[in-house]
Amino acid sequence: MITATNLSKRYGNNLALDQVSFTIQAGESVALWGANGAGKTTTLRCLLGLQGFDGDLSVNGLDVRRSSKAARAAIGYVPQETVFYDMTITETLHFYARLKKVSADRIPAALEQVQLTGHAAKRVSMLSGGMKQRLALAVALLADPPILVLDEPTANLDVKAQRDFIHAIQTLNQSGKTIVFSSHRLDEVVALASRVLVLTDGRLTLDCQPNELAHKLGLHRWLRIWVPAQHRDDSLRVLNEQGFVLMPNGHSVYVQVNLGAKIAPLRSLELARIPVEDFDFVDGDFVEGSHD
Ligand code: ATP
Repeated sequence: MITATNLSKRYGNNLALDQVSFTIQAGESVALWGANGAGKTTTLRCLLGLQGFDGDLSVNGLDVRRSSKAARAAIGYVPQETVFYDMTITETLHFYARLKKVSADRIPAALEQVQLTGHAAKRVSMLSGGMKQRLALAVALLADPPILVLDEPTANLDVKAQRDFIHAIQTLNQSGKTIVFSSHRLDEVVALASRVLVLTDGRLTLDCQPNELAHKLGLHRWLRIWVPAQHRDDSLRVLNEQGFVLMPNGHSVYVQVNLGAKIAPLRSLELARIPVEDFDFVDGDFVEGSHD
């Protein structure tokens, strides 16, 4: 669906992308991971045909340089922040349908796909951040493109809005859309991606599964938990069943946690009604035997 071969982009002396090559198959959901300035946005801008580049890039079988308009038409783009005129949701979608030369018949389906059907008469100024982001997604879906490209999709949303938005994207992915998004949030990547491409200073340094990312990049920390002796076996069983990596140690247990979900084991114990006496985070990489 997308093939980049030796993709490079230079801004003056700054090499923002350096010989980046990857292939994304139809139906995949791929995260571009990297620190600020790593080259994520530049990669997305190349996909969208918004800037020149060296190397080769094809989208939906079309050469982005030679057939930029047709290649761009295969992509629905959700920018990090969208500014809308203060119209109602329906008026906004009619406005964009005219701009994109898409039939207004597509509007009800797009509203449904982002769960905004019941809010269609609301003005944009009355919408929460999460609803505005879903409206931006509806705009991207108007032409029913096979590919969705999203720039840090949940960066500005609260927890509930993040969950709703991730759910909407998951459903679109399950219905066959190919998803490409930039992110530096581990929880978002684990929830949404089937594969992660890691960019470091413009180079592609890792291509891995989301559940390998934290380990490979050293993003794990350890949470040390103390439970009363009579609940110890139960606590190990519950944490084990939840898939946590455990290291029992004397009266306590070390549990491996991701930086984006540090208290998840405590929540699992609470749900199982197992009391916690105390807990502590262990900074740095934990080496077995280095803590008593
Ligand atoms: P962020 O998370 O901050 O958006 P990013 O991974 O998306 O980071 P890019 O925005 O792609 O990174 O930037 C990659 C490099 O290219 C950076 O060094 C950046 O300063 C530089 N850069 C990006 N756009 C331009 C531009 N229009 N002119 C000059 N340099 C640019």
